[in-house]
Amino acid sequence: MINIQAPKGTKDVVPSESYKWHYIENTMREMCALYGANELRTPIIEHTELFLRGVGDTTDIVQKEMYTFEDKGGRSITLKPEGTAGMVRAFLENRLFNEPMPQKLYYLNSPTFRYEKPQAGRLREHHQFGIEIVGSYAPETDAEVILLALSLFGKLGVKDLMLHINSIGCPECRKEYNAALKEYLSGYLNEMCETCRARFDKNPMRIIDCKEPRCREIVKNAPRTIDFLCDNCRKHFEGVKSCLDAAGAEYVIDPDIVRGLDYYTGTVFEVISNRIGAQGAVCAGGRYNGLIEELGGPSIPAVGFGMGMERLLAVMETNEVEFPKPPEMTVYFAANGDAPRMKAFALAQKLREAGVSAEFDHMERSFKAQFKYANKLGAKFTVALGDEELERGAVKVKCMADGEETEVELDRLAEWFRE
Ligand code: ATP
Ligand code: MG
Repeated sequence: MINIQAPKGTKDVVPSESYKWHYIENTMREMCALYGANELRTPIIEHTELFLRGVGDTTDIVQKEMYTFEDKGGRSITLKPEGTAGMVRAFLENRLFNEPMPQKLYYLNSPTFRYEKPQAGRLREHHQFGIEIVGSYAPETDAEVILLALSLFGKLGVKDLMLHINSIGCPECRKEYNAALKEYLSGYLNEMCETCRARFDKNPMRIIDCKEPRCREIVKNAPRTIDFLCDNCRKHFEGVKSCLDAAGAEYVIDPDIVRGLDYYTGTVFEVISNRIGAQGAVCAGGRYNGLIEELGGPSIPAVGFGMGMERLLAVMETNEVEFPKPPEMTVYFAANGDAPRMKAFALAQKLREAGVSAEFDHMERSFKAQFKYANKLGAKFTVALGDEELERGAVKVKCMADGEETEVELDRLAEWFRE
């Protein structure tokens, strides 16, 4: 065996797990269709500059976590560390702003790379499902994005989740807030971590989100954005809450949430589980009215979220959700002798072409062992093929559930199974 392992923090999805992924992927697609969202696929790699500008150079992602390399043409390329920047880049490049608004765009299974310390809930390659609704300022839009996530959790049978919402205001209210925050923090400047000291001038709000114990202690009593909202932002936030109330959604207002992207404005939210350990945020997002313009496009507002698919699966496991089993094999052809083996091969192929799943022996197993294997596969029917059946031009199809046998002509097999 070669002594090569998967890179640290990455995971294979083996067949006994992949059917669970199919289930959540299908449910996500169905949910997006209900909300009128369409898929927008973007590359795994982007120019590094997109993330420097689109995610912001005071964020953990850009400062510490990106997989960046120079390609053979000397360009700086980065593996997607989050979904939104690429979506906005593609939105602009494909001139989707010429389409009727709002544009509801989703991505799923999107490989997302962050150089983090691997631990429970933190991978270096994880996968995200996300949606971006572009073009509307209405609080209904924020609520709709949130409700899509909540309906998905509901549909998937996940219960112990809580929606946390906050507003971090627009650049207007942020000015006043930043001044107040900096005044509060100025006394602690040399006690804070190096990263936060750099944030102090560039984007002090991000200090609220620092994971360093000392920084966390310092910001405990620091002012929060929600107390500094301008009239517009306050009204908008009230609007979002009213929509959530009208839809009967439960939430808590959590002034501690500031989120990782620099260009979030107004609403921010996280959906958190307290049952999958410290990394409990399954879904996180918010409004970003400045990002599209920042990336060189027209001034268009947007709101969205990203959802960690591995974390979603982890909460589903702790909720003991029953995943629908993958479809079983319909027919297994057990064959005894050379000519019957060839017939089994041909019949299996014929049935597959008719849309019926079928299998035969690839392993030169004994006749008896073939039935054992059919059992393992969970085949719904077995067909025993010997010289006698070939002569007769008919077989006995055995239903494994009740043991009942039915005589079927070889020529009519496909038809019979389809019925
Ligand atoms: P955290 O606070 O856990 O570091 P984050 O703020 O960096 O999260 P986001 O940028 O909001 O995370 O990413 C959206 C979602 O993607 C998260 O809520 C989480 O479910 C998932 N996620 C983020 N980083 C990882 C990771 N390293 N491994 C697995 N899932 C992740
Ligand atoms: Mg992170």
